[in-house]
Order: sequence, then structure tokens, then C-alpha cells
Amino acid sequence: KKRNAHEPEYIQAVEEVFMSIAPVLEQRPDYVEANILERMTEPERTIIFRVPWVNDKGELVVNRGFRIQFNGARGPYKGGLRFHPTVNLSILKFLGFEQTFKNTLTGRPIGGGKGGSDFDPKGKSDKEIMRFCQSFMTELYRHIGPDVDVPAGDIGVGSREIGFLYGQYKRIRGAYEGGVLTGKHIEYGGSYVRTEATGYGLLYLTKAMFDHHNIPLAGKVAVISGSGNVALYAAQKAIELGLKVVAMSDSSGYVYDAQGIDLPYMIDLKEVKKGRISEYIKTHPHAQYVEGWENIWNVKCDVAFPCATQNDITLEKAEKLVANGVIAVAEGANMPTTNEALEYLKKNGVLITPAKASNAGGVAISSVEMTQNSMRQSLTFEEVDNILKDIMDTIHKDCVEAAAQYGFGYDLVAGANISSFMKVADAMLLQGDY
Ligand code: NDP
Repeated sequence: KKRNAHEPEYIQAVEEVFMSIAPVLEQRPDYVEANILERMTEPERTIIFRVPWVNDKGELVVNRGFRIQFNGARGPYKGGLRFHPTVNLSILKFLGFEQTFKNTLTGRPIGGGKGGSDFDPKGKSDKEIMRFCQSFMTELYRHIGPDVDVPAGDIGVGSREIGFLYGQYKRIRGAYEGGVLTGKHIEYGGSYVRTEATGYGLLYLTKAMFDHHNIPLAGKVAVISGSGNVALYAAQKAIELGLKVVAMSDSSGYVYDAQGIDLPYMIDLKEVKKGRISEYIKTHPHAQYVEGWENIWNVKCDVAFPCATQNDITLEKAEKLVANGVIAVAEGANMPTTNEALEYLKKNGVLITPAKASNAGGVAISSVEMTQNSMRQSLTFEEVDNILKDIMDTIHKDCVEAAAQYGFGYDLVAGANISSFMKVADAMLLQGDY
């Protein structure tokens, strides 16, 4: 704590994991003797660099770039790049730490990493985005590689940005190394289902949890925060599974549509046109738009899907959700629930799918994309979707078993932490002191 005192998000993420592992440490003195907690909480490597680029007015702008290679015990570092003005070391360390455990839960051979920049893509032209991405990659390329570190997208980094980043990497390296980045377009080495994977995976895990409790998911009312990659495809699968999605948000506010959100319109508005969610009511006058993205949790729902960003559901929001009779909170974003809110929800019997487990579908399919690149092979949409379903079902089973084994009962939060912590710890111990 002392060493990271100025990094509140990072401390929060570490505390959340450590809350679950006391019973494991009691039974595994070898972890304590090997000082595994301190080793695990210090990233293997942190790279910080200057990103100079020229805007459309001809001015030179400087941003800060980061890559954190957090833990490579189980494979090449793997984790997304976030472009958002709030990006700093604390945010990226929390994401890299979480990523290490999440990647382990997928059962695929990947380590954990994260990176990004304080660059704000909002309001920038395509050319500005391209010049920024090219400059960012001009430094990043020397630190990554298909067997070293494989970045992907996250907030502010989608298919367009991955394209620009990959184009620059290829120019510098002078070779096709498709497996160096994931989330690529299908036309140059991407995988089917990667775009949908995080959102779809979230719903597959939520369904597994509802099935386990014999509660039907179809017919339930859902609220989804965010309207980016995760939120849009979570909404798509939710609707397919018979849920009614009544509200979605962006960083300005939320829309409420009692008839159910018109998703094809929303995908076109947010993903294709990159518009604001407030525009929804122009063509859907029966719907309401409310300023302030955090207000979305006032909307009554059975299942809450926070899919925007960290610390979205605070204690106050959790109290509101419980008062409105929420059955489950299914985390699509990383660390969207504060630790106090999490405790409160658990105490009130709300079912929770923790982000580490429930948003692992994206990175799982990224890893499947890496495999296809190495094998020069392309799987069909259906094949990849079946792999995703299997992985999410296995994650649910592993979390249920790990929690039960250490006396937590049905607790996916504890199960996800214990199962992944032990696997990372074992891989580290097997490789000596490092
Ligand atoms: P996007 O950039 O595609 O979308 C983010 C969405 O959240 C946007 O609608 C954005 O609004 C909204 N938002 C609201 N408040 C904030 C805020 N304070 N900061 C940032 N965004 C805000 O990101 P993704 O959908 O890819 O990621 C969403 C979450 O899911 C993140 O926590 C990410 O780490 C996590 N995640 C993503 C994965 C992926 O495969 N993409 C995989 C696993 C986790 P606006 O439109 O106004 O920008």
C-alpha cells in the first residue's frame, strides 16, 4: 500500500482480490514463504513514452503513452490499449492486474498486460486518429511481438484504431506478424466473433448463473450502462435471449425506452456514426433522454449490466438497485462496482458475475485470433461462437468449484479470485524466483 499510495484504483483492485484469498493462504504456506503477494503486485515492466503528433491545424501535440507488462508467467503479455483523457498509471495498473487473473480464467496460455494513452479520441478527425496511432506505434513496436506482448482494444480503441496501429507496425517491421495485435478487421487477419465476444460472453456467463439457480433469464428487464463495444453486443445477445433492454447510456446521459431499445439504430448511431446517445429521441420520440450517465441506475431493472467504465456502481447506486428489486449485477466493464457496493449487493442476496470472469470472453477470443494467425487458418463464426460458449461455461464451473472448495458457497466473485490467483501463483513458483 505504501509503495502505491498515490494509486487508488490500483489499491482497490488488489484489495478486491485479496479479500477472497485468506483461506487459500492458510492452506498454502508455500505461497506466503515465497512472498507471492508482493511479487504479484509489482508489474514486471512499466514503459512510459512520449507520443508527439500533428493535429489538423498543424500544431504539434504531445501525449503520454504507456504499456504495462504485468505478469508473463502464463504466456505473452496480453491486454488492451485504452485511449481516454483519464488514463494514468493507477488506472492501467489496476487493469493490468485484473487482466492477469482474467486471462488465466480463460484457460488460454496468455499473461497479463495493459496500456494506452491520455489521448482523447473524441472530436478528432480520422486523419488525427491515424497520425496519433502511427506515432504511438512508432515507440510501442519495439516492446511488443506475437510471442512477447499482444495488445488489443479497450475504451477509445476499436477496429479503426487497431487498423491504424497494425498498419504502422507492419511498415516498421516489414513483415506480416498478424498475431501482434488482436481485434483486427476480418479482412486482414481478424477473427469472427471478436467484435461481439465480450458482450456475448457476458450474457453466456449470466445465463449460466441464472440456469444454476433455476431462474429464467428470458423476460427479465435489463439496464446496460455504456453504448460502446461491450454494451452494444451485450444488448444484442440479451435481446436474443429474451431480455428487454430498456436503458443505455454514454458519457453524457442515458436513454430510457419502455418499449425496449431499438438496437440496430443504436449500433448505427454509436458504432458507425459515432454520434451522441441523446440523438436517439429525435427518431424515437416516445423515449426519454436524461442528462448525467450515472443516473441510469435509478431505472428499475431485474439485471444491471454495467458496461461503461470503472466505479460506475457506487454504494448509493447499489442501494437504489436493491430498493428497485434487482436480481443480478453482471459486470461487463472492468471494476464497475466499488468494493463497498459489492459487499452491499452480496449482503442483500444480489447475484454477481465479477468482471474478471464475465468479461473474459473478449480476451479469450483474442487468444483464438492469435491461434488462427499462427496457424494461417480461419474459423467460421459458428465455430468461434461455440468456443466462446464453452469457455464461458467452463469459467462458471471453475468459479463455482473454487468458491465451494474454500467455504464461500455460491460466490463467483470469490471463486474467480481464488481459481485464477492459484493458477498464476503456481505458474510463478514453478519458474523460480522472479
Ligand atoms: P468503448 O470505448 O467502446 O465504450 C465505452 C462506453 O462507456 C461509451 O459508450 C462511453 O461513452 C461510456 N462511458 C461512460 N462514462 C464513461 C467514462 N467515464 N469513461 C469512459 N467511458 C465512459 O469501450 P468498451 O466497450 O471497449 O469498454 C467498456 C468497458 O469494458 C471498459 O471497462 C473496458 O475496460 C471493458 N472491457 C472491454 C473489453 C473489450 O473487448 N472491448 C474486454 C473486457 C473489458 P461515450 O460514447 O460518450 O464515449
